[in-house]
Amino acid sequence: MAASSEKLMSQPRSYQQFYKQSVSEPDVFWTREAARIDWVKPFTRVCDFSNPPFAKWFVGGETNLCYNAIDRHLATRADQNALVWISSEVEAQRTFTYRQLFDEVNRFAAILKSLGVGKGDRVLIYMPMIPEAVFAMLATVRIGAIHSVVFGGFAAASLAARIDDAKPKVMITADAGSRMGKIIPLKPLTDEAIQFAGHPPKHVVVVNRGLDKNIQYIPGRDMDYMALCHRHSGKDSGKDSTEIVPCEWVESSHPSYILYTSGTTGKPKGVQRDTGGYAVALAASMPHIFDMRSGSSPQFAETFFCTSDIGWVVGHSYIIYGPLINGCTTIMYDGLPVRPDAGIWWKIVEEYKVSVMFSSPTAVRVLKKQDPAFLTKYDTSSLRYLFLAGEPLDQPTSDWIEKGINVKVIDNYWQTESGWPILSAEPGIEDTPRKCGSPSFASYGYRIKLKHEETGLPVAPNEKGVLCIQPPLPPGCMSTIWGDDARFVKTYFSSFKDEQVYTTFDWATCDQDGYYFIMGRTDDVINVAGHRLGTREIEEAIQAHHNIAEVAVVGVADALKGQVPIAFAVVKNAAKTATPELAAIHEKEVMATVDHELGAIGRPARVYFVTVLPKTRSGKLLRRSIQAICEGRDPGDLTTIEDLSALDQVKQQVEN
Ligand code: ATP
Ligand code: MG
Repeated sequence: MAASSEKLMSQPRSYQQFYKQSVSEPDVFWTREAARIDWVKPFTRVCDFSNPPFAKWFVGGETNLCYNAIDRHLATRADQNALVWISSEVEAQRTFTYRQLFDEVNRFAAILKSLGVGKGDRVLIYMPMIPEAVFAMLATVRIGAIHSVVFGGFAAASLAARIDDAKPKVMITADAGSRMGKIIPLKPLTDEAIQFAGHPPKHVVVVNRGLDKNIQYIPGRDMDYMALCHRHSGKDSGKDSTEIVPCEWVESSHPSYILYTSGTTGKPKGVQRDTGGYAVALAASMPHIFDMRSGSSPQFAETFFCTSDIGWVVGHSYIIYGPLINGCTTIMYDGLPVRPDAGIWWKIVEEYKVSVMFSSPTAVRVLKKQDPAFLTKYDTSSLRYLFLAGEPLDQPTSDWIEKGINVKVIDNYWQTESGWPILSAEPGIEDTPRKCGSPSFASYGYRIKLKHEETGLPVAPNEKGVLCIQPPLPPGCMSTIWGDDARFVKTYFSSFKDEQVYTTFDWATCDQDGYYFIMGRTDDVINVAGHRLGTREIEEAIQAHHNIAEVAVVGVADALKGQVPIAFAVVKNAAKTATPELAAIHEKEVMATVDHELGAIGRPARVYFVTVLPKTRSGKLLRRSIQAICEGRDPGDLTTIEDLSALDQVKQQVEN
């Protein structure tokens, strides 16, 4: 007894030992980590994997996500800031202590209940980056309902498809968001989507920010949030306190939310997340991976700043649930990194003494185009780490920011499906040396396999393989595709005949020292005269040319060779491609670089020069759309594109 409790308490202090315990003694490991959250009823089994590939974590345990994010901190952190909202779009700032957040969430929970939302019902949240979106999410899980946040940048048709998949009882939206100071109406899109939808919600709660003066309410269906707040703040009944809505205790595997993948590679999948496993995974990742120390003592608080959007998985996990479960102060930033100027993020870091930041390589590349003086204008010495994820991180970008603000940069790799990093350094356990271009090692709990695409055999060091995870997937990972278990198994677990493994659909290599390198997506492979080439490899070769800032390569159908690579590049010095003659010379130079770096087989058939590449607003290259344009096809769903003119440039170049 004494020995086993000792084992539970003692946590290995080296990455190797920590990782090893997570995979060789998962019950010991996860029982220890599960103690980081509060359970109203203890679990009886760590993992039930009797029906592979479905895994149930912390079976029989009962808990609540909202309770862990708010209620349990009230005794010690009631007056500590929980949520700091900063908007450079509407030039406003609002701060909520844990006590105030508790009040807001309870009021929202009372509203949802009054609209008939109960355990297991879906609530669709289509909101800009405002605190009410956070209240709505926490209120939903408080009452055991399931939220489905749809990124506010999606247009009506995409929203309608998600409404029909999730079949929400209630939808929550706002009159409008704002981007670059321009009002982006949301309510008309909500109305349009509901018209398209086969399963319209019964009610729509509208947070009216007063940005769009023309919003229309549909009587009986639409409710004004402020009016509902008034009704539930006790003021009408003469009480002066907010209604308290008790947490609905749910079994660990009860779904907490549905989140659709960004759809870069096709029809979005409704990732379903559980409750207990997710809470434990986030509670553990904050100290171990992100080195956040708030949880270590009830009096101690640190600030976490994740620059993502609540519409993406990074926002769910690291703007909201992760930091709050750990008693941190979390920053929610509504705006662009360059408005009012490129110093805004560093100003926030200085003001709130941010300890750790989480952003994306794309955002850093945006800053890199600005005056570097902004990097030193503010005191950023509180910042220990900058985590970057979502896209491959190139060395120049990483070096630029690491030196610029004197912070350690940590590349980490994961997916909507995983909910938390699959590959990352874990400085909270051990500050292992990092290699540029590598998200380091497997996170604890992940049994990674690099499999040969055809044979399924493990690949040799430095040889490219498909990045797979041996099930059971660790706590926090998707439990299934919402409403479609068969699609879950078929999509993710059916790539190899020899064994049932989860496929990430990304290529990777692993070097002799155990560092992983992501080589791109498996469907970004092109077939040139029978040779299979990753577009990412060609992109890297092109980037070796000193004047290339960014590049996208796609495979385009070719009668002779099957496919040929075509490159679209952004140059650093535009003067070198200013005339058609200069561009032609530059194109030859870039081709010669590829010949040298990769071999003539990878040489692009054409290199076109553009000033901006088509990307989603989450920073992912829209290779599919570029490819479609090159082949004269429809570019597909462009509702989340950052800048439509980028696609026009591609069109112009190809047509010329
Ligand atoms: P869909 O699956 O619908 O096509 P998506 O894959 O773009 O959408 P996400 O789940 O947001 O949506 O993105 C995960 C993907 O992003 C990974 O599979 C990988 O391709 C890429 N990615 C994430 N982090 C990194 C990283 N650190 N380095 C390289 N690539 C990364
Ligand atoms: Mg994906």
